[in-house]
Amino acid sequence: MRRFGPRFGLSATRKRTYDAYMRSEGWFERRKAWAERELKRRSGRAIQCVVCDKQWTLRDDLHHLDYDNLKAERHEDLVPVHRGCHDGIHEILDSLGLRRFMPARLANEVAIERMRASIGI
Ligand SMILES: [Zn+2]
Ligand SMILES: [Zn+2]
Repeated sequence: MRRFGPRFGLSATRKRTYDAYMRSEGWFERRKAWAERELKRRSGRAIQCVVCDKQWTLRDDLHHLDYDNLKAERHEDLVPVHRGCHDGIHEILDSLGLRRFMPARLANEVAIERMRASIGI
């Protein structure tokens, strides 16, 4: 489902694991469970993309803030994004090589802030 995988500091084996997981029933179910829990947390208010603040649905993507818990993600490891917004995050992470010199979560914070700034939020 995702075109992008982890690029930095992960072995080819781990990249294959990630790619297979993104296409799996397990990930499909994880996304559903994530959305249900998030809606409960928000008392039924719509889920919003962390980049553009517009409404997110299960047809959209979930981005991993880090891959430490791959296949056993905590709720907080995932953030809702639209496909285009998601691509933008990965482009920034890759082009700046952010993950090479900062922890994944910090790199993601920077990338998400940059994306938001680029669309005037
Ligand atoms: Zn968005
Ligand atoms: Zn992602």
